Amino acid sequence: MKFGAHVSIAGGLFNAPANAAERGCEVFQMFSRSPRGGKAPDITKEMETQFKDAMKEHKQEAAYVHAPYILNFASQKASTWNGSIRLLRQDLERGSQIGATYVMFHTGSAKDQGIDEALDRAIEGLAKTLDGYTGDCQLLIENSAGAGAVLAGEFEQIARMLDDKRLKKHKALAGVCFDTQHAFAAGYDTRTPRAFKETFDQFDKIIGLDRLKMFHCNDSKIALGENKDRHEVLGEGEMGKKPFELLIAEKRLQGKDMIVETPGDQALDVALLKKMRNKVS
Ligand SMILES: [Zn+2]
Ligand SMILES: [Zn+2]
Repeated sequence: MKFGAHVSIAGGLFNAPANAAERGCEVFQMFSRSPRGGKAPDITKEMETQFKDAMKEHKQEAAYVHAPYILNFASQKASTWNGSIRLLRQDLERGSQIGATYVMFHTGSAKDQGIDEALDRAIEGLAKTLDGYTGDCQLLIENSAGAGAVLAGEFEQIARMLDDKRLKKHKALAGVCFDTQHAFAAGYDTRTPRAFKETFDQFDKIIGLDRLKMFHCNDSKIALGENKDRHEVLGEGEMGKKPFELLIAEKRLQGKDMIVETPGDQALDVALLKKMRNKVS
């Protein structure tokens, strides 16, 4: 298990590995562009080399890309739906250029449609995104904090997307990025060994742990099942340290990297995870 944080790309993508190293990261996550959308400047051959050199110089073992937050694959607005497809495909291509392992994204919200209709629209959009894509960077669905219309909060919805025949044929859709705070907000408890085991047994039964590829490691500002996306510093929120100690010690979850997206100084969260790992090994 390697640890890292979401870091800034201000001044250019090639700054991200240095920003990560400064925070004690072994791996890291970044945006490949402004997260609010707009046209992303092309990544030139020179920028590619600069980035890869910086990865080596700053000893970063993997880079992950978070897609822009504005995507909504369930949108009934053609411009939003088409824009989501275009942006996510661009991020996959950009990720492939710089050697990133995964791009993760938020599926979106059903708003006033039924969940079935919204999921179907999302599946259709994702199939279109992946159609003809031949890059090495793979795609992960991120679980959400849930709440009625927000898709991918329940494991069953994620499984429905991954198992749909329109998506199953696309090997580039590798699985799930598991956000600990989103899961907690969606009602999946991990605070005691028993609750932790139940949550991951359920994940295994419904989605399959082989499709859980990495973690977003965040504590929660809100209580279990309150359906809000509100991250907190590790150990200082409603979840506490226990879920993270259990994650690091869990045999079934070895080899899956963890990215913190916490408020405040993320170097402290990364250091805390490393301390927990030292205790296990
Ligand atoms: Zn996310
Ligand atoms: Zn979040």
